[in-house]
Amino acid sequence: MTNSAETELKHLKTAVRYLIGLLEEGSLVPRYDESTRKEIGMVLQHLLHKVEGLPEGVPENLVLTTAVRAVVEAAAEHDQAAQQEQADALERQMCEAEAWASIHGHLLEKWEPVAGSVMEYQTSCQTCGGFIYVSHNSNYNLLLETCERIKQE
Ligand SMILES: [Zn+2]
Repeated sequence: MTNSAETELKHLKTAVRYLIGLLEEGSLVPRYDESTRKEIGMVLQHLLHKVEGLPEGVPENLVLTTAVRAVVEAAAEHDQAAQQEQADALERQMCEAEAWASIHGHLLEKWEPVAGSVMEYQTSCQTCGGFIYVSHNSNYNLLLETCERIKQE
């Protein structure tokens, strides 16, 4: 006795959804790094969705193409999410730098993008010329402990 294709599909969907959940949550596979787990989860989600949309009797090579497209789409989605995370981190670095500068009496110019880089910015103090550089994961602060402006007053 064999299961109907419909029953098989139902079981397969349940199992894949469960696997996606496990990958997202991560406790069963802690050795996989988080971004890899999330990306595999996304691939499976895309795959489920796309396979559901395939018409009956579709040739096998088109099913395989569907799998490839799921991988490509998940990768694009993952890149986008990573970029957003970096942009948020950059924003935080800028805010922290601005707060620090302000507390120490500096008056910063507008942030300028560093030539040739995508997520790096620099600015300097209008009064003392001190320099500050930030990227999403680093900052380089050449501002003095106290701005010259305050020393002169
Ligand atoms: Zn200054």
